[in-house]
Amino acid sequence: MKRRSLLAGAGAVAVAAAQKRKMVALGGIMHESLSFNPSLTRRAEFAVRRTEPRLQALAEWAKNQDEVAGCIEEAARADFDLTPVLFAHATPKGPVEKQAFEELTTELIRQMKAMPQLDGVLLCNHGAMVAEHFPQGDEEIIRRIREAIGPKVPFVVSHDFHANISEQTIRYCDVLLAYKENPHLDTVQRGHQAARIMGGILRGEFKPKMAIVKPPMLWNISYQNTYREPLKPIVDAAKEMEKNPKILAATVACGYQYADVPAMGVTAIVVTNNDEQLAKAEAARLGDMLWRRRDSTILNVEDVPAAVQRAMKATKYPVGLIDMGDNIGGGSAGDSTFLLAELMKAGAQGWTVVLCDPAAVTAAVKAGIGGAFEMPVGGKTDRMHGEPVRVKGRVKSLHDGSYIEEKARHGGGRYFNMGLSAVVQAEGGTADVQNLLLLTTERSSPNSIEMMVQCGIYPHRQRFFVIKGAIAPRAAYEPVTAELIPVDSPGLTAVNPRRFEFTRARKGLFGL
Ligand SMILES: [Zn+2]
Repeated sequence: MKRRSLLAGAGAVAVAAAQKRKMVALGGIMHESLSFNPSLTRRAEFAVRRTEPRLQALAEWAKNQDEVAGCIEEAARADFDLTPVLFAHATPKGPVEKQAFEELTTELIRQMKAMPQLDGVLLCNHGAMVAEHFPQGDEEIIRRIREAIGPKVPFVVSHDFHANISEQTIRYCDVLLAYKENPHLDTVQRGHQAARIMGGILRGEFKPKMAIVKPPMLWNISYQNTYREPLKPIVDAAKEMEKNPKILAATVACGYQYADVPAMGVTAIVVTNNDEQLAKAEAARLGDMLWRRRDSTILNVEDVPAAVQRAMKATKYPVGLIDMGDNIGGGSAGDSTFLLAELMKAGAQGWTVVLCDPAAVTAAVKAGIGGAFEMPVGGKTDRMHGEPVRVKGRVKSLHDGSYIEEKARHGGGRYFNMGLSAVVQAEGGTADVQNLLLLTTERSSPNSIEMMVQCGIYPHRQRFFVIKGAIAPRAAYEPVTAELIPVDSPGLTAVNPRRFEFTRARKGLFGL
């Protein structure tokens, strides 16, 4: 407002200058798709953010702590404006249905082309989307955008750390970078970086040159914690590289092992300012570091009985059991019962298990607060996540399932909703050490403690948590647990690739 009123009095020259302010489209279609989940992700499952009125939409988008918010913050400091275009997101699940992919991609491009002025595109996509008809969905979206905007419009893409990036993809955009951290706590910074690079290109200061290296390996999800060995030194090297003013971005994307696509696996990308040789050399250096640490990614994770035994011997609580076979953020069902059954068999007290089970929620609502609850829970979505387990107890509370996370947690989201939910206090606990089952209508990745706290479950009072994820929940759970035990549990996101039959992934990948 202030700028405009000043310009209004400054005459035609200033107005003309103001009109030259560059306008950049900001949008994306985010999905991480699990090839082995037969349940396709449909159009209705994508939440689409509103784009109008423009400034209000941007203000709303900026409330998250994600890369989109980072782009908005940085653009405000830089000298270009943003137009929000389609931004759609769905919880990870099976491949994106053909119709959904086509509708969303067409709409995204239509909105970009409808802009009266389009000087650049900032695209925030996940990078591990599998569409029903395009194995590498993100590559196809990026290709179509380039086709639509022509070769000269600057096009900067950001991806998730779990992106499976194909060599072809970098031919269709000027810059591609990805989150450096897992859990993903650097999302805002990556948005800043993408927008900063866009600003440099628009001012004519940057001429990006990109190089990509894909060592023939799968970096198992169990070892994708960027705050620990073996990955930390490699990610630190990428961060160090960016201190060189000639290097605009250095990325180590670890990939998503449940997408059966040719690009599945690790990727190193280095973007320089007009120095092709440097980009190639530094990307090769990162690729080489990944390849040389391959032996430290050989799978060594306890199975369900061994992990529960270890948890039962703990002297400090609470202990978190990471149910890696039912990783909701990885696209799994969220109703696996293997760990619940094992904890009950072991006579554990003070457990907390979250299950997505709409039928059980309905039963709890019918019983009402304080009412008796007895029925088989979980294991209902498919035949891969254990048998339903009979739980007897009483309904402790009912909730609308919405919760807010204010801290920076994996992915940087703020508003979450797990649908109508119920807390059932199950038999076998005591007044102080309660067995609590949180039943939800929707799957919600356990990236925030608020999911429980806002339903009256306090982590410090519990002894055992079953956490349906892999690395992502660590940002939320490390501060409130004494120990986290990764579990090689069966399921759609089992950590051992040998449990699946890959047909499209490159042959002979180390770790497959
Ligand atoms: Zn991710």
